[in-house]
Amino acid sequence: MTQATTHSGDILLDVRRVTRRFDGLIAVDSVNFSVARGECVSVIGPNGAGKSTLFNLLTGMDVPDEGEVRLDGENVAGISPERLAARGVARTFQHGRVFGNLSVLDNVLIGAHSRLKFARPGWPVVGAFSEVLRALMRPATLRREEEALRADAEAIIARFGTRLTPRMDQPAHSLSYANRRRVEIARALALRPRMLLLDEPTAGMNESETAEMLELIAELKSDGLTILLIEHKLDLVMRLSAHVLVLDNGRKIAAGLPDVVRNDPAVIEAYLGHRHVGGKAPVSNDAGVARLDPSIAGAQHA
Ligand code: ADP
Ligand code: MG
Repeated sequence: MTQATTHSGDILLDVRRVTRRFDGLIAVDSVNFSVARGECVSVIGPNGAGKSTLFNLLTGMDVPDEGEVRLDGENVAGISPERLAARGVARTFQHGRVFGNLSVLDNVLIGAHSRLKFARPGWPVVGAFSEVLRALMRPATLRREEEALRADAEAIIARFGTRLTPRMDQPAHSLSYANRRRVEIARALALRPRMLLLDEPTAGMNESETAEMLELIAELKSDGLTILLIEHKLDLVMRLSAHVLVLDNGRKIAAGLPDVVRNDPAVIEAYLGHRHVGGKAPVSNDAGVARLDPSIAGAQHA
């Protein structure tokens, strides 16, 4: 196994021996890794390797059977997604989740609203009653808050340029798949997170859309955002990541610098390995192979 290189800078996320079992299956098997502040770390591995499950464990959507998820030194394993969002952890989903009947702007405002709810100390965190109370007691303040949130949401949408700005008032269901994925990222950004977890943000995107996404992630990184990225397109991973973590069958099989990991025999075996062929694991070996080697990836873009 490639040894993980030492991180420079301070650690924002420290994952220690995290394990998740589903019946007989160990989806995530005692995984260790850390992410320094402002760094982009990628998680790669064949389909079924445990990447999305790992994201669920890091964002409060699922609870590890064992291990710790340390955010700024504190174990946050098992706390709710809302509380984790309030602590600055935002995510997107592999299959994209937007509210189809809401406009692009309203989808993004939902992210902004959740931030406000949790940021306001002294007020009940959830519940319609607190909303009503606030509306009665502080209408002027509330209006100003709403305006600020809207301006913030619009500024975030503007980051996506002509892709989203002209469609701000359209229902999300009317958008292209790529644009719906952009809306989801915009909503996550409206939480003003410290750390953003992106689960296959370019899945289903063509080459130019993928290049745009690469540029956006690079910009977010240069803004200082800490990013954890699940991605199959290896050229993207190589260009963005300080470190790469490779999972296979729930286990960390390699971790380290992108170039080192890419040439690791265990990683190549995981993508090319015969054990998956005809087996139960939902592995698309062709895609894995194509994307592991960027020299042939161009010919087979999804
Ligand atoms: P990846 O994102 O790397 O493709 P996943 O994390 O989605 O992999 O899945 C890892 C393994 O865990 C797969 O074998 C998958 O079928 C299984 N798995 C994921 N979620 C559940 C669940 N809720 N119940 C049972 N098995 C699950
Ligand atoms: Mg997945």
